[in-house]
Amino acid sequence: MTTITSALQAVKHRILAAAAQNGRAAQSVQLLAVCKTFPDAAVREAFLAGQMKFGESYVQEALTKMAALRDLPLEWHFIGPLQSNKTRQVAENFAWVHSIDRTKIAERLSAARPAELPPLQVCLQVNVSGEASKGGVAPEKAAVLAAHVKALPRLQLRGLMAIPAPTDDVTLQRRQFRIVAELLAQLNRLGFQLDTLSMGMSDDMEAAIAEGATIVRVGSAIFGARSYPKESSG
Ligand SMILES: *Cc1c(COP(=O)(O)O)cnc(C)c1O
Repeated sequence: MTTITSALQAVKHRILAAAAQNGRAAQSVQLLAVCKTFPDAAVREAFLAGQMKFGESYVQEALTKMAALRDLPLEWHFIGPLQSNKTRQVAENFAWVHSIDRTKIAERLSAARPAELPPLQVCLQVNVSGEASKGGVAPEKAAVLAAHVKALPRLQLRGLMAIPAPTDDVTLQRRQFRIVAELLAQLNRLGFQLDTLSMGMSDDMEAAIAEGATIVRVGSAIFGARSYPKESSG
């Protein structure tokens, strides 16, 4: 039987190995444990094994879990699709949002971010696969959105996030991640000071790390298979 503790250890080894193989420092890649669909007890076990950063995709589920885990010093990242009517709850309860893909959402998050909290750390989600069903700003529109977000007082723009179309072909995985990394470099040449590439999941974290990922978002490799689909909204 695989416990969360041993699975977490195995994921950390994969990250370290991929970093080393690409001549990158071990600390240059952070692990975000994606606990959507998993119970409080699973998060507690991961915390006891040393994990403090957790990702959630569904607002209501996340708020319930946060309340039950209030005794732990966890850092929560929102990584799912964001609807306007949920922006206040996200602005009040999360440290990071990875999935900003339009101005209206960014404006609402900034307006609702409580004064006593640090600025909300945000990434723009980029649609690299061109699939119409996928969230994310088109790469060619990212600079305009980045300029808007940068001007908002209660958001701190940190970088880019992407969820490429799944494929077993490592060359194709790397090609999609490279588009995101090159876009980040391009934005930095325009004067943005971005330090975060949120990319790579359970099945493609090595390719993402090879292309410069600084945060990998890993769910099933830590917690096991999910029993409801990741595309459902909420
Ligand atoms: C669910 C999810 C993940 C984790 O996916 P796994 O394949 O289980 O590692 C990462 N990022 C986002 C945006 C997700 O929704």
